[in-house]
This record gives sequence, C-alpha cells and structure tokens, in this order.
Amino acid sequence: MTPSGSSPARPKVLYLLGTQRGGTTIAGRLIGQLPGFVFVGELRKLWQVGLAEGRNCGCGKSYEACEVWSAVLPEVVGATEMAAMQRWQEAAAPDRRSSLRAWRLAHSSAMGHSPAVRSYADLLASTYVALAEATEARVIVDSSKLPADALVVSGLENVEPFFIELVRDPRGTVYSAIRRSGDRAPFHPRQGVGGSAGWLVRHIAAAALRRRVGPDRSMVVTYEDLVADPQRILGEIAAFLGEPALERRVVVEGKVDLDVAHTPIGDGRFGPVSVSLVHDDRWVTALSRADRMVVSTLTRPLARHYGYLRLPPANTGA
Ligand SMILES: [Zn+2]
Repeated sequence: MTPSGSSPARPKVLYLLGTQRGGTTIAGRLIGQLPGFVFVGELRKLWQVGLAEGRNCGCGKSYEACEVWSAVLPEVVGATEMAAMQRWQEAAAPDRRSSLRAWRLAHSSAMGHSPAVRSYADLLASTYVALAEATEARVIVDSSKLPADALVVSGLENVEPFFIELVRDPRGTVYSAIRRSGDRAPFHPRQGVGGSAGWLVRHIAAAALRRRVGPDRSMVVTYEDLVADPQRILGEIAAFLGEPALERRVVVEGKVDLDVAHTPIGDGRFGPVSVSLVHDDRWVTALSRADRMVVSTLTRPLARHYGYLRLPPANTGA
C-alpha cells in the first residue's frame, strides 16, 4: 500500500486481465509499488470464497482485524445476505463460460442489465470506492482476470476503469498451470489441448474487451517484458493511467521489495517481502517436444499476434 493523501471521490481501477499462471499476481504486486496505487489481489474471490469460507486477508489477519477489510466490509456488505451477493456475481460474471459471455457481450450494444447485474455492479463500485478511502490510494489494482467481470467494471460510473491484458507465452502458461509440482512427465493429451484452449479463449475475450473500451483505457503488457525490465514497464503503466512514475529504482541489487497486500483470500501469503524477480522459463527445457507442438499449434494465430512463437518450437529445447 502506498498512502498518498486523501483519495479522490472517483478512484481509478486498474483491472488485470489474463490467465491462471499468467503472472498477474507478481504483476499486480509490482504495479502496487507505484505511488498512489494499491494492489488488492483477486477481488472477485471476496464473495465467492473469502467471506463464504471464512478465509483470512493476505496480511494474515481475519477480515475483522485487518486494517483495510475491517473498514471496507461494513461499508459495502452491511446487512446484505451473502447468498444474494453470490447470486449477483453468478449472474453478472460467472466463473464458468466467463470468456464466452464476455466475448458475446463485448460484441453487443447492450450490456444486458438485469437487476442482478446492476446489483453486482453497485457492489463492485462501492467496494472499490471504500478500498480507495481505506487505503488512501488513487488507483485500485484488481487481478481478478475474468473478462466478464472486466466488462462489468468497464460500465461502472463511480470509478475510472482501466485495463491491462497481461499476456504470457502460452507454452509457459500451460506448462506452469499443469506442472505446478515440477513433475516432468508428458501431459495427458487432454491437458495440453484444454490448457491451450483456455489460453486462447481467455485472450480472445480480453482482446474483444480492449476493442470495446479503446486504447485510452486498455493496454497489453507481456509477462516476459515486465520481468525483464520492470522499471520501464511500470513507467509505461503509470503514464497510461496519468500517474507519476516511481522515483526510486524498483530492482535494487537484484531484489524487489514488495509491500504487504491485503488480498481477500491471501491467508497470510502476502506479507512484505524482498524477492528476486526471476523469469519462470522452466517450460523451455521441461516441456516435451510433443506438448510444445500441441500448444504452439493450437494457440498460433493469437500467440503470433502477441509476438510469441517466432522461433519454430524445435529451436527452444528438446
Ligand atoms: Zn489485511
């Protein structure tokens, strides 16, 4: 968190679009180092998981004890029933088929404002405003990733919405999603195909949303560029939002100091920490040639558009 005096009445929201294992968490924490920005993790999980399961904040405290959520939740939840909030979210931005829904809506003129969708939009807007007040931040960074959610955010009137589509090489993303344990056995054929389809569909929907909101409200950042030169990319992001850049070096002696992040389901995993910013490219040596071919072939048109797959798959390892 970076306090910056009183928060404005209409805070900016920077919504990160991307995939699981696509680098949105490290991106969000890095962006949260910019002056006036605060990273709140995957906000959409507050209702779906955090409150429903009695989880703790990323700082390690319960919501009642956390300095941020103890101020925010009474403002936005009040006497509203949990089941109602979850129903609104399910109507507006369901986890399943979110990309398809977002793609369809992004191509239609109407947003399909049912009462449930309007209630969810009001809930999101009041949460962002309360977060800005509690943290004294000008920009709330939300790494919820979901295109359907982002579409709701794009229509909020009480905040100024901005979007970053964070893209990571599909081979690295799919490998990382499937091989979290470091197991090097080849994928089951369904895993490679499913992971590739997930990457493709999510980014097609994100691109549709970017076209809808336009270049003044959206930009593309690659995970690889961010890790290679965080100072430059953070400067570009600050400029994109009309905010001042970092005055200090973000990487000092190979380490980045990250502030505590009050993420809804962090359960203490987001305390202040000093980390080495390392490009996770295990897939280059660990992904089998056959799996690499599957992912490259299925994601090729869009992956090429983002600058990936310039080398034939056989040149990058096995
Ligand atoms: Zn906290």
